Amino acid sequence: MIGGKAVGYSDERLERIFDRTSGYCHLCSRKLVFCNYAIRGARGAWNVEHSIPRALGGTDHLNNLYPAHIDCNEMKGTNCTKRSRAAHGRTRAPYSVTKRIQKREDNALRKAIITGAAGGAMFGPPGVIIGAFLGAISGYDENPDW
Ligand SMILES: [Zn+2]
Repeated sequence: MIGGKAVGYSDERLERIFDRTSGYCHLCSRKLVFCNYAIRGARGAWNVEHSIPRALGGTDHLNNLYPAHIDCNEMKGTNCTKRSRAAHGRTRAPYSVTKRIQKREDNALRKAIITGAAGGAMFGPPGVIIGAFLGAISGYDENPDW
């Protein structure tokens, strides 16, 4: 521990923490740059944030650790996570890598059904196929966090 900040996370641990939100800041939901870990001033610079501050009994377990911009982390200070996210209009952390794929597939399916039905109403059976196809692509491309 140096200056109250935990140091010396292994690369593997950093990756696991980073992947918890697919590399988005858990407070403002903007992109982080993995290789700029702890490099203050660099684009997407980030560090590990304790969702429940250590001072309030937060642990070093993965479920209490999130990646956050260095600035967001400092702005949060000892405020609670909920309030800091709310300041950015967010109510939850960005999805993890696995969850994100799941959500994208859900969106693709949902859109495929909607646009397939719309296509069918306009152009008959071929419209269903084309509509579903286009819907699936656009659903998959949506960022499920926004
Ligand atoms: Zn941030």
